Amino acid sequence: MNYSELRKEMVETQLIPRGISDKRVLEAFLNVPRHAFVPDKEKENAYNDFPLPIGNAQTISQPYIVALMTESLGLSGTEKVLEIGTGSGYQTAILAEIVKEVYSIERIPALAEKAERLLKELGYLNIHIISTDGTLGWEEKAPFDRIIITAASSQIPEPLIKQLKDNGKLILPLGTSLSQILTLVEKKKESIETLQICGCTFVPLIGKYGITTQ
Ligand code: SAM
Repeated sequence: MNYSELRKEMVETQLIPRGISDKRVLEAFLNVPRHAFVPDKEKENAYNDFPLPIGNAQTISQPYIVALMTESLGLSGTEKVLEIGTGSGYQTAILAEIVKEVYSIERIPALAEKAERLLKELGYLNIHIISTDGTLGWEEKAPFDRIIITAASSQIPEPLIKQLKDNGKLILPLGTSLSQILTLVEKKKESIETLQICGCTFVPLIGKYGITTQ
């Protein structure tokens, strides 16, 4: 299979026509070998327009949603980013192609270890991964310019708002465990502003400040 051709096709048919236009984001999608982040039996589907299972009842998100979340963060390249929900590590790699440092937290140790190994093999030196409850953030490394939460939450985790810089941005799927709205949160000195982007469906953010039963 010619994966580099498939990546080009993914960018040209799934991302650009839906409005993804940031050159750094498109470049990252052309560079990162998405097929390396999915199980062997899913490799032929790696560049298709849907999420895929990655084991441990978790998923790698649809390419367009990864691109939309990345573009919505308005990255210039100098940022320190915190990601909650490493999963396969694909979104982590996309971010690492664009920004200075990526700190990523995964709740399931087996996924965190697998992603860390793969990202090292692929040569990323600006990624740091730990396994714990990401809704508590990563206090010692704070503050962050941007925060991305790649699992569904019914609340904006308070520790993460605290660990975000002033004028920083955080993106998350906000809603119930059944459906959410991709929401961009901007932190201002005294307040936060939110912008609703589109409907989406993610696996739940399980943690102290994550999804609550409703
Ligand atoms: N961005 C990932 C990728 O590119 O493969 C997909 C992430 S998957 C949709 C959501 C991930 O969030 C799962 O791996 C899940 O274990 C993780 N997760 C859920 N609750 C979490 C928490 N409190 N802290 C850290 N990770 C969490």
